[in-house]
Parts: sequence; structure tokens; C-alpha cells
Amino acid sequence: MSHSPPTQHTLSHASHDPIIHQIAKILKDWSGPIHLAAHVDPDGDALGSTLSLKRGLEQLGQSVTLAMKVPRYLSFLCQAQEILDEAVALAPNTLLVLLDVSDKNRIWGADLSEAGYVINIDHHGSNDSFGDLAWVDSNIAAAAQMSKRLLKALNITWTQAIATPCLTGILTDTGFLRFGNTDKTVLHDVAELLDYGVLYTELTDRLQWRHPDYYRMLGLVMSTVSFPLEGKVAMVEMTEAMRQAIGETDDDSSDYVGQIRYAEGSYIAIFFREKGEDVKVSVRSRGDVSAQAICSSLGGGGHHAAAGITLRQTSLDRAKEMVLEAAKKELERHQL
Ligand code: 5GP
Ligand code: MN
Repeated sequence: MSHSPPTQHTLSHASHDPIIHQIAKILKDWSGPIHLAAHVDPDGDALGSTLSLKRGLEQLGQSVTLAMKVPRYLSFLCQAQEILDEAVALAPNTLLVLLDVSDKNRIWGADLSEAGYVINIDHHGSNDSFGDLAWVDSNIAAAAQMSKRLLKALNITWTQAIATPCLTGILTDTGFLRFGNTDKTVLHDVAELLDYGVLYTELTDRLQWRHPDYYRMLGLVMSTVSFPLEGKVAMVEMTEAMRQAIGETDDDSSDYVGQIRYAEGSYIAIFFREKGEDVKVSVRSRGDVSAQAICSSLGGGGHHAAAGITLRQTSLDRAKEMVLEAAKKELERHQL
């Protein structure tokens, strides 16, 4: 390895400038290959944070690869061949940069043990700062904002091609600027990115396009809606049988939970997805009620208001029992 690695380091949100500059310097000076990766089941922030950083680093002459299975609804943001859609073996002396990965078991497209050096850049409260160098700040709404800060520290020339995925990450992780994580820095970053030529209304329109199968599936999923725990929970499910009926690959079904999170009287929205012998669970919460607490208690994680867990080798009925029990405890913790 050509660099002597800095010691493992995490800074609190109070002062993250030194770590930004430390990471920027490593990215700029790294003499070997750089590989970027994000989390399994990538969303707009996973793609936006990595793709903007890749394009920015390439402008500086770095050799950068990015591995991701880009979901259909986000593929318009990428050029052909720009992204590796399968995991690759890392060449010796590869700098591995992970963005938006809450947990080392959720990395997609890279093997930690093959990396020369690992930088972990993330905004999930449940991230334990794994890697050789970690910048974790759960007060930041989107990992794409962290990429933006790094790109500013690297003094790149902003282009539409870099700003568009960056803005995508911010828009998707804030629910198009509606969620509780939409703070002043978010609005400031959005305004600044617009100055770099993003076609805002075209982007927001295009990001919401969905395949007709998405709506066919949504009909089936919504037919299962129920409001347990006296209406404090809203929940829906997607079964293997529905997937067979529609023939849907489900790469854009993750926002179905968003369809029920505004049910009047509810504090918690839950979406159960049967995946073979496993059940993937998406949880959203309101106010002080914590989706993260519910999922962490079952071994998952995420953000305060948006979290998830994959329950392995579990039936749908058992998954519902387990998650509802955890939801009940979380409601009781808040005297609800
Ligand atoms: P989603 O419900 O959209 O899949 O995930 C919501 C949030 O929780 C995302 O930030 C996602 O990264 C995180 N998340 C989802 N599933 C898991 C999990 O099994 N473990 C952890 N640590 N985080 C998860
Ligand atoms: Mn994110």
C-alpha cells in the first residue's frame, strides 16, 4: 500500500471540517485505483452520492469504478457502462469508499477484506464507524450532501452531470424536501446545485416515473392495508404470490411504505415484503416515535424516522408478530 493510513477517526457533527479535508486529501493523492460502493437495494441517495463523487474524482484524473445494481427507475441518471452491475474483485492497493452504508453487512459490490484502505462516509445513526477512516454524521439528511462537501473541498468544477445525481440523493432521502430531515443546509445545497445547471422540474418529474407494473402491484399491495394497534400502525404486505401474478421484479417497490405513512391517527407505517424464505421490512415513523428503535431491537437499523430489517428464514405471519410486538413496545415507551 502506498499510503500510511491515518488512524481510525470519527468526528461528531460539531466539527467535521477536518475530516472532510482529511478524506479529500486521501482521495486526491491516492495513487492506486478507487472503488465506490453503497448499500444493497440501492436508492436515490446510494446512487446519487456515489455517482456524483465518481464523476467529480474522474474530473481530477482519478481512476474510479462504481459497482451497483441500479434500479430501473434511476437508470436514466447513468451512462451505459458507467456502473458495474456485478461485484468485482478489487485490484491490489484499491481505496474502497463506501457511501450511505449503515452496516458492513449491507455493503453491495465490494469485499471489505480485499481493500487496501476503507473510508466509510455515512449518515445513518446506527453506523458503528467501521473501516479505516469513518465520517459518520446522523444529522446530515443525505449521503449526497456529504459527497457535495467533499467535492467542494476538492475544488472540482461543477457540471450538470455531477450536480444532477447529487441533487437526486438529497431529494430522494428527504422525500422531495418534505421529511423531518429537511433543514436549512438541505435547502441551501439544493439552491446551490440548481446554479450548476440541474433541470429541476424535469428531474423531479423523471424521478417519479414508474413502470405500469409498479401500479398494478401497488393495487394488490394496497388491498392488504390494515391499521392494527388501534390504528396507531398502518401496514401493507407484498407476497411472492403477488410477484408471480404481476411478474414484477420489485426494484422500485420500496416507496410503497410512503403511500401509507400519512394515515391519520398513525405513528408507524410498516411494509412487509416476502423475498423467498426471508421477509424484508420497511418501517417509517412520526415525531418522537423511532423506526430505528423498532428495527434495531430486531437486529436491523437505519435512521430515526426510516429504518429496515431483513428477517431471515421467517414466515410473513411470524414477521408481522415480531414487528408489531416491537412497534407496541416503542409506542408504550412514548405513552401512546
Ligand atoms: P428501506 O425501508 O427504504 O429499505 O430502508 C430505510 C432505511 O433503513 C435505509 O436508510 C436503509 O439503509 C436502512 N435499512 C434497511 N434495512 C436495514 C437493515 O437490515 N439493517 C440496517 N442497519 N439498516 C437497514
Ligand atoms: Mn441515505
